Amino acid sequence: MPIHEKSLIRPENLHSHEELEIEGVDVSGHWSTFIESRVITDYNEQMEEEIAALPGGENIHRCWQCGSCTNSCTVHAVNPDFNPRYWIYLIRTGMEDELLRDKDIIWRCVSCNKCTYACPRDVVPEAVMKATAHWLELKGHTEPSPSMQFDEEFSSQVFETGKIEESRVIRGFFARTGQPLMQEWLIEMGKRIARKLPIKMGIAMGLGFLFRPRTSNWGGAKAAINEYVKEQKAAQRKALGLNSGAGD
Ligand code: SF4
Ligand code: SF4
Repeated sequence: MPIHEKSLIRPENLHSHEELEIEGVDVSGHWSTFIESRVITDYNEQMEEEIAALPGGENIHRCWQCGSCTNSCTVHAVNPDFNPRYWIYLIRTGMEDELLRDKDIIWRCVSCNKCTYACPRDVVPEAVMKATAHWLELKGHTEPSPSMQFDEEFSSQVFETGKIEESRVIRGFFARTGQPLMQEWLIEMGKRIARKLPIKMGIAMGLGFLFRPRTSNWGGAKAAINEYVKEQKAAQRKALGLNSGAGD
């Protein structure tokens, strides 16, 4: 599986001679550019299997490197370093160190799923990006991302009550990520919503905020979900070779 994009060649691996003549032909400057070959010895042969063991990573083996995901990607359009096809290539070939060079941007997938619709092999690249970001966190390569913090907050509220109350999710997310509650954009959004919101819906939201509604007879479902989640987390840690308490 080759590297397609010229931008992926690391600048430090590109070399040229300022002045060079070969058999009477001047090949100075970019005419004499060559790419230094890389010697990689620290492959992580388990990396594909580990990411495939996480939710969303199951179909990574199906990728045939066509590049449709990257070509259609919303984030790639504004940041060419965001490259799902390349990361899938690195994961499948076990090049962990190369992947770690981009560890701080992988979580920035906005889940638009354009890649998912473009992929001819049903890899579901969006889900693979999520699984990869999760893998980076579990392995201790990155702190939990804001995206993961949001997912955790959202899920914990559903597990607890069987319902979602938006303002509580936002408040919980801000608390987890150390953000102030009163933010300019949020106040402006609140004002605009208040202007358009039907009165009945406004009252329902206010009551939900005050009384935290629950799905009736939720206790059994809550216990079953919590048990299932616990089992899944333990299985994921085992697949990644982590001890039972690590990366939770
Ligand atoms: S879901 Fe993520 S990876 Fe896929 S196109 Fe959107 S931003 Fe890119
Ligand atoms: S579109 Fe699908 S098959 Fe093509 S490179 Fe992306 S993940 Fe692989």
